[in-house]
Amino acid sequence: MRELELRHFRNLGVQELHFPPEGVAVIGDNAQGKTNLLEAIYYLESFRSFRGAADGELTAFSEDVFYLKGSVEGDRPATVSAGFDRKRRKKKVSVDGTDAQRMSSALGRLGAVVFSPSDVELVSGGPSARRRFLDILLSLNREGYVEALVGYRKALAQRNAALKANAGAAAVGAWDQGLVGHGARVTHMRHEWATTWSGAFSAYCTAISGCDSVAMKYRPDLGAGGGEPRAGEEAFGDDEGLVQERFRARLAENWETDVRRGVTTVGPHRDELLLTITSRARSLQVRTFGSGGQRRTAALALRLAEAATIRRERGTEPILLLDDAFAELDEGRSRQVMELLRDEGTGQVVLTAPKESDARLRGPSLERWRIHQGVIEA
Ligand code: ATP
Ligand code: MG
Repeated sequence: MRELELRHFRNLGVQELHFPPEGVAVIGDNAQGKTNLLEAIYYLESFRSFRGAADGELTAFSEDVFYLKGSVEGDRPATVSAGFDRKRRKKKVSVDGTDAQRMSSALGRLGAVVFSPSDVELVSGGPSARRRFLDILLSLNREGYVEALVGYRKALAQRNAALKANAGAAAVGAWDQGLVGHGARVTHMRHEWATTWSGAFSAYCTAISGCDSVAMKYRPDLGAGGGEPRAGEEAFGDDEGLVQERFRARLAENWETDVRRGVTTVGPHRDELLLTITSRARSLQVRTFGSGGQRRTAALALRLAEAATIRRERGTEPILLLDDAFAELDEGRSRQVMELLRDEGTGQVVLTAPKESDARLRGPSLERWRIHQGVIEA
């Protein structure tokens, strides 16, 4: 991020910021706007709040419209802007001065990753938290993913509506082709990502914690038949044609269940990104059996894998947005994370911390900015 123009985003008022190339440490008390600043930057990457807030909530209380504009330099320079009108409920996005007809074509231009204390939810939460992680990651980094996901969701909603209305086999089945085509794509791309990065994920966990053996594996609902993995399943998601075939067969198998429940009971909307710890030859889910520290470690490893994905897919260093990220990690672990980030490359870092002493460990050489009641002083 080189320049950032803020207008009425949360409590940040009207400001123009010029970022040093190596980044900055933003220091301020609680509730001054540190996370809001990172949220604004990441909004220009994903056009949504990483905290899950609605656009209306991002608009300053006393205003109806917010506007953001940011530019990045390097191999893939871009200027991205986004505006939202609360009254008209209209969002507008542009890249290099041209309005984007579709939001999807403007996604992922900055190449940013957020590390936040709430990331632990990625690990502790249910399967939908991890599907959401994959959906955002792949939407920003893989061509064609958003289209497949949106297509799948539409077909699923229509099929469910037909099931609920008891519309009969033909009316329900009319959506199957779209469901299977898009759904297989989604499963395949998620599976491919997990397979590519599972080794790195485990290595990150080990490097951060020094000991834990934690593994990541994609478990497609279609592959596992809802139960334990079957023989030959490892290769399942590799072959999109095979996924389609299996999806069709499972839809047929589950037809009566679907009719009875009035909802589609198989498909990627039930997939799981399994995170497991191996302990005494038993494999346990981090989600239920991991300690607090192990969960935070696994969450950080997911974000590190996300940063590495950006590096590989786009050939640029990711902008790291560290939101008081290591607040709950012990000093040894947070030092390990910073070393890992540094070893992998030196992208720009924007970090926030309530106190100077917290910033010292994470970004000793970064320029300091202060923030008070939304006003940033460089
Ligand atoms: P902490 O250290 O506790 O995480 P922070 O500096 O990260 O604090 P933020 O979450 O960035 O704090 O900002 C919180 C502040 O932003 C609160 O004072 C809140 O009232 C204000 N705020 C949130 N949304 C809006 C909005 N739409 N308009 C104006 N102010 C807002
Ligand atoms: Mg905060």
